[in-house]
Amino acid sequence: MPCPKCGRIYCDHSAEERGETREQMLKNMQFDLEEGKKRMDKEQEAVVKNNKERALMIVIEKIIARYQNQHVVGDLDEEIFKLFEKAKKIKSAETENEFQLAIADL
Ligand SMILES: [Zn+2]
Repeated sequence: MPCPKCGRIYCDHSAEERGETREQMLKNMQFDLEEGKKRMDKEQEAVVKNNKERALMIVIEKIIARYQNQHVVGDLDEEIFKLFEKAKKIKSAETENEFQLAIADL
């Protein structure tokens, strides 16, 4: 609960100035702290997920580059070629919809 005097959650106003009992103020601060922590945990999860996807794409790119280096064009195995195309589509997907389409027949 933000302070009614200054609008901040944590401030130097006393419980009386905030119109709360000390117990209420502490409870509210604790609640806000927990909410903030939950929000940060979620943000952290999203960052990890995003980093994992990016790292996976780098690995796929390296596999593709290595495979292409060792095979002349026209010598690509048909299934491998299809998987390459799929990886490219997944990589270039920018919206959730494009991503879903890209992984549709995995
Ligand atoms: Zn205040």
